[in-house]
Amino acid sequence: MQNPYLEVRASAIEGRGGFARQRIPKGTRIIEYLGKRITQAQANRLYGDENCDDEVGHVYLFTVSSRTIIDGGVDGNDARFINHSCEPNCESVVKKGRVYIEAIRTIEAGEELNYDYQLDIGEDVTEEDKQRYACLCGSASCRGTMLDVPKPKRARSKRAATEKQKAA
Ligand SMILES: [Zn+2]
Repeated sequence: MQNPYLEVRASAIEGRGGFARQRIPKGTRIIEYLGKRITQAQANRLYGDENCDDEVGHVYLFTVSSRTIIDGGVDGNDARFINHSCEPNCESVVKKGRVYIEAIRTIEAGEELNYDYQLDIGEDVTEEDKQRYACLCGSASCRGTMLDVPKPKRARSKRAATEKQKAA
C-alpha cells in the first residue's frame, strides 16, 4: 500500500529522501519505522567498525531502547529514507517499543521530510566520529554532525553554543 504522505525520491541532502506527497498537518503520524528488531550486540556484530565499511548501514539503525534496535536495512520500509536534519519538520516518537515519524509542524507538499537522528554511539565521541557522521542538512542551526552531542568540547561558533543552550 502506498503511503499517503510520503514518497521517496532523490534528495539534495543525501542519496534518496522522503518527501511530502501532500500537505501534512502538524501532529500527523506519517509512517512507522519498520525493520528487523535486533539487539545492540547483534548490531555491533553486523555493523561494527571492523566488519563494515558501509557507513550508510549505520543510519538505517534506529535505537529504540538500550536493548532493541530496528534495522531498517532488513525488512524495512520507506521510513529509512527520511534524512536527518538539525532543524527538522518531523520527530521520531517511540510508543510501546514501536517507532513513528510524526510532523512537528505543518509541511507543504513537496517539502523534504526530516527528523533529528540524535545518533548515540556511546560515551567517547571523537572529532573523527563527528566527521564520519557529518551532517549536510545546511540549516542555520546545523551542529555539523548527526550524532547526539550534548556538550561539544569546543563550540564551532558563539551562535552554535547559543543554539545548544536553547535546546538544553
Ligand atoms: Zn545539520
